[in-house]
Amino acid sequence: MEKDDSLPLRSDVTKLVFGTGNTEAKILAVGEGPGFNENQQGIPFVGQAGKLLDKLFPLAGLERKEVFITNIVHHRPPENRDPLPNEIEAYGKYLDKIIQIIDPEIIITLGRYSMAKFLPNIFISAVHGKRYDITWNGKMITVIPMYHPAASLRNSNILELEKTDFVNLKEILKKIENEKKTKETESAKVKVEQMNLV
Ligand code: URA
Repeated sequence: MEKDDSLPLRSDVTKLVFGTGNTEAKILAVGEGPGFNENQQGIPFVGQAGKLLDKLFPLAGLERKEVFITNIVHHRPPENRDPLPNEIEAYGKYLDKIIQIIDPEIIITLGRYSMAKFLPNIFISAVHGKRYDITWNGKMITVIPMYHPAASLRNSNILELEKTDFVNLKEILKKIENEKKTKETESAKVKVEQMNLV
């Protein structure tokens, strides 16, 4: 990726911001694009939005180190502007690769651009904090769209909504875990029944 000259944002940046966190994570968080601090350090969400994200994760019973964090574009857009459709498209193959490698059960999208990759044609105001089970490259993944922490820093109403969404996320995660256990128990039962038949 570092050598890919076709990437539209690469010429004016200091660092590639690929991703960080637990590569064995069940949860992948996907933001928009690196800002000033991220471009300096090569790590996503290390600026003000990242500091807020570090406070939001514990509301859901999560620690940042349990999650893998990346963005839909991996070089900083100039002046922190929103990523353009051709940029999202160009970096998409790398995000797809990250999803393939991390192989998450849950994707938390941060902001409307990353939401749109998985849940197109909807408004974040209508769906934030809700659970969507989608099929992604043949595998069931739960997508939970969240507001971007930078939007919460700009608007205290959004901040309150986002805090509630992260508190509710704790219950959603518990439910997903319980569903997984039930499925495992059921498939173990089927195996035992099959063994008894033989
Ligand atoms: N905002 C993002 O969307 N990503 C970062 O890495 C930092 C800020």
